[in-house]
Amino acid sequence: MKREDVFALFSRPDRKRRCTLSVYLNVDQSQHDNLNRGFERQLKEMASSLRRSLKEGPETEGLASALHRVADFVSAYTPEGRGLAVFVDEADGFFARRELAFPVTNQIRWDRELLLQPLANALDQFEDYGIVLIDRTKLRLFHVQQDKIEEVLYTEARGGRTRHVKSTGPDHAESSNHNQRRADNQIRANLREVLAQVNEFVKTRQLNRLVLAGTPEILSEFHKLLPARLALTVIGETLLSMDASPAQALSVARPLAKAYERSTEVEKVNDVLTAAAKKGKAVVGLDHVLEAVNSDRVWELIYSNEFVAPGFECAECAALFMSSTSSCAYCGSGVQPVSNVVERVVEHALRKQAKVEVVTGEASATLATGGGIGAFLKTRTKAVVAV
Ligand SMILES: [Zn+2]
Repeated sequence: MKREDVFALFSRPDRKRRCTLSVYLNVDQSQHDNLNRGFERQLKEMASSLRRSLKEGPETEGLASALHRVADFVSAYTPEGRGLAVFVDEADGFFARRELAFPVTNQIRWDRELLLQPLANALDQFEDYGIVLIDRTKLRLFHVQQDKIEEVLYTEARGGRTRHVKSTGPDHAESSNHNQRRADNQIRANLREVLAQVNEFVKTRQLNRLVLAGTPEILSEFHKLLPARLALTVIGETLLSMDASPAQALSVARPLAKAYERSTEVEKVNDVLTAAAKKGKAVVGLDHVLEAVNSDRVWELIYSNEFVAPGFECAECAALFMSSTSSCAYCGSGVQPVSNVVERVVEHALRKQAKVEVVTGEASATLATGGGIGAFLKTRTKAVVAV
């Protein structure tokens, strides 16, 4: 799944009436219930219970057709990932599907806007990264997306091979030193070629995270050549044989990517709590976050994967509230209940191009002390924000 694919979903409008259908389907073939197209039966059950839960009227206009399109698609679908997300918007005929690397909870939703929180969680938990595998003369590049690995490049340095310089007797010491220097220079020249390729790879694939693989000696040489900007993207280093299979490369890189994700979560949560306590550029707690999202001030949203809260939404301008009010504070229209306002916050933040970070485990427990949700705010001035 590429970032630009999801961006198309995140920029979808919210509608004035219910006309969008979102379906998340667990299609994991390692689960017994999903074999023999069990996921298709589960979709049918979800669809009929959705129809039963809504009373016929303007609110269900287009629902039958949307359900039909999803059922049609799923009936011809061969599972590749472990989860499947399908989206339909009857207002303009929009249809999209995304494959997910992990088993999702089955969900169906007929609403004014697409249900994107599970997708945003998946993107955040399985952020793309690259694996750079090098030795003295060769380079292999892998791109990991949603926990799936693709080998992108295998190349040998144009500068040619470097040889191991055998140690010789004392008579040849001088010549041996000379050869050693030549070999070292050749390795550095090769590594500079590698660096150019890695730069290109990071740029074209829009990667923010890299795992370096090879022997410790070659990696330490390579590290010396890395410009600061690229060095910052390195999330881990690992020993790996040059002829490792892609599956082997993934299995050594995966724990590093996970550990890095966990440590970013802890760091972000601590930062947001600290900034909010100093009344700085952040807020925590649902009430403050709702206010920030309503006034388009969220730069990055941080929320616990377990946090769920009911709330209210303005029928006209889609502003969000924790408690029922007789009229929307922003436009004076009526408000209606939403079962989980956290989903809405995530969707609104995405639509307003804020970043989202879902946190789990230890970071989630810490964020609970701040109400399970927080946000870094945009600066009011046009000051440049250091990234
Ligand atoms: Zn309003």
